[in-house]
Amino acid sequence: MEKQQNMPTNTPAKRRVLGPCSHILVAANTGSWRMERPQVDEEACIRCGICSKYCPTACITVNKEGCPLEFDWHYCKGCGICANECPRQALSMIPEGSGE
Ligand code: SF4
Ligand code: SF4
Repeated sequence: MEKQQNMPTNTPAKRRVLGPCSHILVAANTGSWRMERPQVDEEACIRCGICSKYCPTACITVNKEGCPLEFDWHYCKGCGICANECPRQALSMIPEGSGE
């Protein structure tokens, strides 16, 4: 079995690893709950994937090249856990709709 850290974040397999709560969150359009959204500092991010592992909706994909992170805005609920867990302070939460 492939290690969790090597899996793409938005796969059904990843959600199985996270358990039944993730299925409930995935079934809901949790993106509609969002008041703030994470923004990545591409210079500070080291692509370690810690934010992705902690995200309760498994909506962060870590890229090997280019922009380090992709967020699935249908599911990102703006909880800020990813920003809290980042060891590089590469994520900041900005108001939804701020256009930054
Ligand atoms: S935890 Fe921080 S440094 Fe690691 S991939 Fe996420 S944003 Fe980048
Ligand atoms: S704010 Fe971060 S941890 Fe929370 S749902 Fe969005 S991407 Fe995941």
